[in-house]
Amino acid sequence: MPNAETSTAGSPAIAFFDPLLALLVPSRCAVCEAPRVDLGGGGVCRACWASLPVLDAASACPRCALPSGGCPCEGCRLAPPAVARTVAFGLYAGGLRTLHHAFKFAGWDLLAAPLGARLAALARATAVTQGADALVPVPSTRRRNRERGYDPAMLLADETARLLRGPRRTLLSRTRESPPQSSLPAPNRRANIEGAFAASPRAHGRVLVLVDDVVTTGATLFEAARALRAAGALEVRALVLARTPEPT
Ligand SMILES: [Zn+2]
Ligand SMILES: [Zn+2]
Repeated sequence: MPNAETSTAGSPAIAFFDPLLALLVPSRCAVCEAPRVDLGGGGVCRACWASLPVLDAASACPRCALPSGGCPCEGCRLAPPAVARTVAFGLYAGGLRTLHHAFKFAGWDLLAAPLGARLAALARATAVTQGADALVPVPSTRRRNRERGYDPAMLLADETARLLRGPRRTLLSRTRESPPQSSLPAPNRRANIEGAFAASPRAHGRVLVLVDDVVTTGATLFEAARALRAAGALEVRALVLARTPEPT
C-alpha cells in the first residue's frame, strides 16, 4: 500500500504530482492542527500520538473496559453482558476523542492503518484474540456508511486482522436504520439498539472478537454480542479503540 508520508524526493513523477498531493493529503495534524512537520502516521503528529490517554487493561472492568480498578464494574456485576471480555486502547477523552472524531465524522479514513496497528498491538499484549476464530466488526447502519463513504469499524477490523494474520468475518448486519446512539441520552440507548443486529448462522460454535471504535454505555456492543450468542457463538469478546470514563 503506498504511503503518502514516505519521502520520495527526487522522483520526477512524484514532483509532477506534488501540487495534487498537497490537495489530497491533509497538511495539518488531525488532533492539534499544527503543521505536520513531525509525522506520526495517519495525518497525526508524533507528539499527539504519544500523548493519547492509553487505558491500562489491568485497571479496567474485564467485561466492559470501564475504568474500575480492575474489578467488574457495578453495571456488569448487576447485569453481566453477553460479552465475556473487553479491552480498549484508550480513554475516550482528550486527543483520542479528537482523533476519533476525525476518523469517524470528518473523513480521515487514513487513520485506520495506525489505529489498526494499535489495536493489533493491544490484542497481542492482552491475548484477547487468543484462541478466537475471527474478528467481527460492529457494523454501522447502511445510510451512515453511505454518507461517510466507509464503515469505521470495518476498516479497523480489516487492518487489525491483517496485522494479526487472522480472519475478519462479516457476521453481523443491521436490521434497520436507527438514530445514532450518540444523539440519545444514556437511558434511551438500549431500547434504540435492541434487535438492531442480525447475526449469521456462521457464528455458531465460534469464539469471536467484536471490533468497534467507541464504547460509551456499552448498549451497542452488548447487543451485538447478544445477537452473536443467540446465533450460537461459543464466546464473544471485544477489542475497541476507546472507552468513555463514565457512562454518559
Ligand atoms: Zn498533533
Ligand atoms: Zn463493566
